[in-house]
Amino acid sequence: MYYDPVEAMDRQALDELQVERLKQTIANARKSPFYKEHLAQVDAEAITSPADIVNLPFTTKDDLRSQYPYGLLTRPVDDFVRLHASSGTTGTPTAVFYTQSDLDRWADLMARSMYCCGCRRSDVLQNMSGYGLFTGGLGIHYGSERLGMLTVPAGAGNTKRQIKLIRDFNVSVLHIIPSFALYFAQKVQEEGFETADMPWRIALIGAEPHTEEARQKIEEMMNIKAYNSYGLSEMNGPGVAFECECQQGMHLWEDAYIAEIIDPETGEHVAEGEVGELVMTTITREGMPLIRYRTRDLTRFLPGQCECGRTHRRIDRIAGRADDMMILKGVNIYPMQIEQCLLAMPEVGQNYLIELLTEGVTDQLKVRVEIKEEYFVEDMRALQGLQKKIAKNLCNEILLTPRVELCQHDSIPKGEGKAVRVIDNRKK
Ligand code: AMP
Ligand code: ZN
Repeated sequence: MYYDPVEAMDRQALDELQVERLKQTIANARKSPFYKEHLAQVDAEAITSPADIVNLPFTTKDDLRSQYPYGLLTRPVDDFVRLHASSGTTGTPTAVFYTQSDLDRWADLMARSMYCCGCRRSDVLQNMSGYGLFTGGLGIHYGSERLGMLTVPAGAGNTKRQIKLIRDFNVSVLHIIPSFALYFAQKVQEEGFETADMPWRIALIGAEPHTEEARQKIEEMMNIKAYNSYGLSEMNGPGVAFECECQQGMHLWEDAYIAEIIDPETGEHVAEGEVGELVMTTITREGMPLIRYRTRDLTRFLPGQCECGRTHRRIDRIAGRADDMMILKGVNIYPMQIEQCLLAMPEVGQNYLIELLTEGVTDQLKVRVEIKEEYFVEDMRALQGLQKKIAKNLCNEILLTPRVELCQHDSIPKGEGKAVRVIDNRKK
């Protein structure tokens, strides 16, 4: 059972649809000042298969910034009804504009995504992510309404109120950022509730990198099924790729996007199944199409067909961002390697923080780790043993020994939005 029959469309028909929509997209994009020039050399008629997309130039975040705010719009500003912006904390934000028809299509994709992991009209969804410029608020909200769910726009933070709303309105689906879910699960227990007694059954988790270990921890602590949700504001927001009930990677909606995976250095496609940078093209967006957009997100296509019968290709969970990589003493390290190692340890609690600092002339890696209440004991030797164990496990994973600082449960500050996992205090 699918929300939309297009989800199980056969490959050849899907390829043909992509070609047709890509050509329309190029013609439409040329109405914007940016693409008029950027695509000047492109012969759209020469495109006969989705693979021909390699002949088009990339679009980068810098292009979006240089065109800020209106350079990518294909029509007058009067025709737009909404804007969102990326959550990037530095420099000029990247703004994305939507016409009414863009919003409608996005809501359809969102509804399809939620249906695909088991949400139904009879569910009640509580949206626990921040509203505002962040697409996780209104994006999820409109999709949830489109599917016909009773939608509780709780917004971020305020744990007690969240719990009350969930209990009062029999909330069965949560949209929650994974780092907040880990924190929230603990709080629910502290407030004296058994998670097994809560009305929820599904958590939509996404918007930030997280590991399989984090998902499992959320599922266990909350007695819930957690499904990975991927998106970025440049591609509308959430609803780009979503896990189905099989939980074996995320279906990327190929009737709305063409996805490629490239080597970030060379720009060439990687071999099938290899990890690289995800590059995306919108093929149904009218107001602000983006062609071959370099997302910086690292993932791979998963081989084979999904048991659910959907034909749209699946991507693996995001391994990190191309610009996330830390280089320390010549070793390349991704924050998700550290999370994977930490959250697999039974003693480790819900939160951690990675700090890069300079001591004397060398750079150091410090990892602050929250420890579960029962392991945070008075016995100095036990604590030192645990500290050593964590450092050793991390060293096995990242090939250098970090300094490990054990922290009491709930002592690392937790913001309301996407978690900040790395603080770089190195002397430049
Ligand atoms: P924004 O456009 O500001 O909402 O940020 C989008 C970015 O959030 C993406 O490019 C990813 O880096 C990250 N992101 C979103 N969803 C996920 C997810 N499910 N897993 C990992 N990272 C994600
Ligand atoms: Zn599936």
